[in-house]
Amino acid sequence: NRPAPARASARPAADPSVQNFETLPGYRELRLQRSAADLIGLGNPFFRVHETKAGANTRIAGKSFVNFSSYDYLGLNGHPDVNAAAARAIEEFGTSASASRIVAGERPGHISLEQALADHYDTEACVVMVSGHATNVTTLGALMEPGDVIFHDALSHNSIVTGAQLSGAQRRSFSHNDLDALETLLGATRHEHRRALIVVEGLYSMDGDAPDLAALIALKQRYDAWLMVDDAHGLGVLGRTGIGLAEHCDVDPRGVDIWMGTLSKTLSTCGGYIAGPSALIEYLKCTAGGFIYSVGLSPPLAAAAEAALALMHAEPHRVERLRQNGNLFLACAKKHGLDTGTSLGLAVIPVIVGDSLKSVTLSDRLYKRGINVQPIIHPAVPERASRLRFFITSEHTPEQIRETVDAVAEELHEIEKGGSLIEQLMA
Ligand code: PMP
Repeated sequence: NRPAPARASARPAADPSVQNFETLPGYRELRLQRSAADLIGLGNPFFRVHETKAGANTRIAGKSFVNFSSYDYLGLNGHPDVNAAAARAIEEFGTSASASRIVAGERPGHISLEQALADHYDTEACVVMVSGHATNVTTLGALMEPGDVIFHDALSHNSIVTGAQLSGAQRRSFSHNDLDALETLLGATRHEHRRALIVVEGLYSMDGDAPDLAALIALKQRYDAWLMVDDAHGLGVLGRTGIGLAEHCDVDPRGVDIWMGTLSKTLSTCGGYIAGPSALIEYLKCTAGGFIYSVGLSPPLAAAAEAALALMHAEPHRVERLRQNGNLFLACAKKHGLDTGTSLGLAVIPVIVGDSLKSVTLSDRLYKRGINVQPIIHPAVPERASRLRFFITSEHTPEQIRETVDAVAEELHEIEKGGSLIEQLMA
């Protein structure tokens, strides 16, 4: 005689307006935005299917485009040496590391890539992980804990903020690139916490500007904090030979405690890495969940990234060409009076138009002229900072850059001539 099962009606009634994917926060706004764009005939600028390798040029829906949406900054994706290294690794090791490196063991390519990256930053050691995003999340999560404090730039990448949240440490952001604000925060609050970490990026991916590394090192010494630099966009871009932020600022890279980077940009594969003292790397390899409980980097990706790093070192003219292209874009944009914010004119150049609808419209008009560039709109940036963001590569030609900036200026002028887009739509 089993007890009768509890009657369904005895359970609290589920609230259908909550237990429904369509009521998730922001989803309704997303659909509304899309419907409004459809209504006025604007195509979706996101998730476009590229039918070929997407570097400086691409093909979408059978049509050729000049492409500004790829951070293959030095054009190494698909380079014959990079492809050959990946192909050799596939021949020998297959396509997967097949389990966490703790369990499935190392492949020679993990060790040699980590050594090459450690040499690059002149650090004792390095560890590579399967995703750049996960590298930041798991490193910050493993390194810091409640009672500690993380100071980070207000424009930090989502992976830095998420990692800081995961750590349980106190999180304090300072306004973008404002080291006086950072010093004020350090002075006011550093003493309340046990360990402190300052996190900045080498080249900021929305604004294309860089922090003053020498000043940051002085601050971290004065306030007894660690300094972590996410140089995801700096590698291959900053400094005469593309070493990154340290070379750009003419500072010894050993002044930084933790170098973070990704394999997905200049190194044209995917994955992330941390380079630093051996104790740090050993600690992460035994405690960072995103390393221990995740598969090892796939052997062909490790081999391809190592080949790309070697090419970057062997062919500094790629870095120089990228710099010339970025400088040309910036000079043309300034000539046209476009707002490029604080961009240094290297690999990342925004054209700030200050209105989401205007940004999407401008991107759509350029697309119709054979230029693929994405709008960055609220909530990724504040509404007044809505923009098109151009990723420049060493493989763009000067003509492509001049023609693109001319097209941006012309189309923006056309849009603005008509007055407010909202008023035009309501008319
Ligand atoms: N850090 C920064 C500064 C980034 O811009 C990104 C992504 N573009 C990441 C980390 C994450 O890297 P990945 O895309 O390789 O996962």
